[in-house]
Formats: sequence, structure tokens, C-alpha cells
Amino acid sequence: MRFGPGACFLCGTTTTPPQDTVPVFADWLLDRYQLRERSIKLLDMRIVAYPELRIACCARCRTQHVEPLEAHIETISWQGVRGFRELDEQTLFLWLGKMFYGILVTELLNELDPLAVPQYPLAENAQMFRRFQAFFRPLQALRVPMEYDDFVPGSVFILETDPAQDDMTFEYDDDLSTLAFSIKLDETVLVACLVDNGLIARAMGRVYQQARRPLHPVQTAEFKARVYYAAYLLNVVPDYFPRPLKPGDQEVVLDALIDDVTGEIFNPWDNSAYAQSLLEMWKRWHILLSDILADPTFPLSYLHDAEGQPRHLTRYPEKE
Ligand SMILES: [Zn+2]
Repeated sequence: MRFGPGACFLCGTTTTPPQDTVPVFADWLLDRYQLRERSIKLLDMRIVAYPELRIACCARCRTQHVEPLEAHIETISWQGVRGFRELDEQTLFLWLGKMFYGILVTELLNELDPLAVPQYPLAENAQMFRRFQAFFRPLQALRVPMEYDDFVPGSVFILETDPAQDDMTFEYDDDLSTLAFSIKLDETVLVACLVDNGLIARAMGRVYQQARRPLHPVQTAEFKARVYYAAYLLNVVPDYFPRPLKPGDQEVVLDALIDDVTGEIFNPWDNSAYAQSLLEMWKRWHILLSDILADPTFPLSYLHDAEGQPRHLTRYPEKE
């Protein structure tokens, strides 16, 4: 894993900027969601236009791996949520992973020459680096035929918003330190933690089952708050090992190892910390922390009622 303008993000081959690059957000996304005029705010408060976000990529990786992947996702994306649900998990992981990698590396390179020194520099976050290094192994499946043996590297959730309640065609956010990430394309909301070995998906199985219905955006935001908070609580970093290749092997087989002998998989859930995650995700609706924690033992929920049953929200606010 080498990053910078002089090395392909995927294979490490020497690259020459600016021709040897690929966009972090593919051209089809920039066009379809009018992102060419929109910008993203980086951690050091620098504002960067979406089309300026590019990562080094050699011609071979670009034409043989990245562009075909983007073309495939563009095609299935016309089918909306159904297209994404029918997509195989590895392809979806790789597509999200490539975007996430691009953002994270942009931030790391930016930290070398920051506009404003961030309070918690990513480059000094040792656990983030361990996660990032672990994530980079299964990401190599973008380039090398690879089978994940009996594991999924990340948790990916596919949610659907109710178009009658929704006026945002595109949304993007992330928590780089935990490798949590979300992107919304029309009514499809993809939420992922890319290096949890599927543990968050397992822990949130029931919540996810109940959320497989058209949701109000305030409900998808709540779901995201849970995933991001769970990623923050995650206490383990998986290790991935490629099996030695034998003559005639057609693909690399990757094994996962979680060394969880030292403690719990998740640190204990804390409602007041989770409420901060909700507050952040609900910013658009100006929901106050005092309302979120009106009952400190049961933070405000639009996904579930006090009995844990799914709530059906036809509009927000519920009363005029
Ligand atoms: Zn390459």
C-alpha cells in the first residue's frame, strides 16, 4: 500500500499525474447528480469540488478494473434499490471501497499541507491505520481474482427512502476513523462499515430486517447513526491472510482472523454517546439533544416504538 500521485492506488505501479488518475466519484455520478458544481468539505475545512477528487491509478488498473466496475454499477443503478440488492456483495464492497479509499487518501495527503491543522489528525490515529491496512487486502479483489473464505470484509446495508418524503437525490458522508461511510443515490441509501468483518451487520440483523421498507429520511438518518456508532464501538480489527498459491490456482483465497481473545467485540453501548451520533445525523431536522434524551434510557427513535416494534412515519414533523 503506497499512496501519493506517483503510485497506482491499487497495484503500486509508478504513475504520472495528471493522466494516470481516476475520479473518486465516477463521471457518471458527477453527471447524474450534478456534482460537477458541488463541493465537499474536507477535515481541514478545505473546500474541494467533487470533480477535483482524483486518485492515482495506472492505465491498466483503470481500463481493466476500475472503469468496468463503474460501468457495471452505473447499469444496475438504473434499477434502483432492486439493482443494488441483486448485486453480489463483493462487487458492492469493492465499489464502495474504491470511493472510500479515494476520500481517505485525499484526506491523508491533505494533512501533509493542511489549510487548518485538524484537532485529531488522521495520520496520528494508529487504530485507523490498522483498520485501513486490513481493509486494503480484500480491496485487492478489484485487481486480482479473489475469494473471501467464509467471511464478508464489511457490513453493507441497502436502505430505501420513500420518494414521497424525500427531496435529496444525492448525499454523502463518512467517518474516516472507523471506515464508516454512506452514499445516497436517489431512493437508495447505502450504509457501510468497510472493515468490521460483517460484525455490525450481524449485530444489527433484526433492526435491518425491520428497516427493509420505504423509510422516511429521518429514519434512514437514525439507521446511519446506529451503524456509525456501532463502528465506533467496534473493538476488533480483523486480519486477512492470502493462502499460498499452488500451481494452477485461478484465484487468491483470503482468510480472516479475528483475535478477540483480549476482550469484547463491541465496547459497551452508551446512550448519551449514541445520542450525539443521532444529533449529528438529524442536524437537517434541527432535533434537539434534549428531545433525543427526553428519556435517557430510551433515546428518541423514529424507527421503533417503546416496544421495539417498527414505526411507520408518513411525514415529519408528524403533526403540523
Ligand atoms: Zn495499477
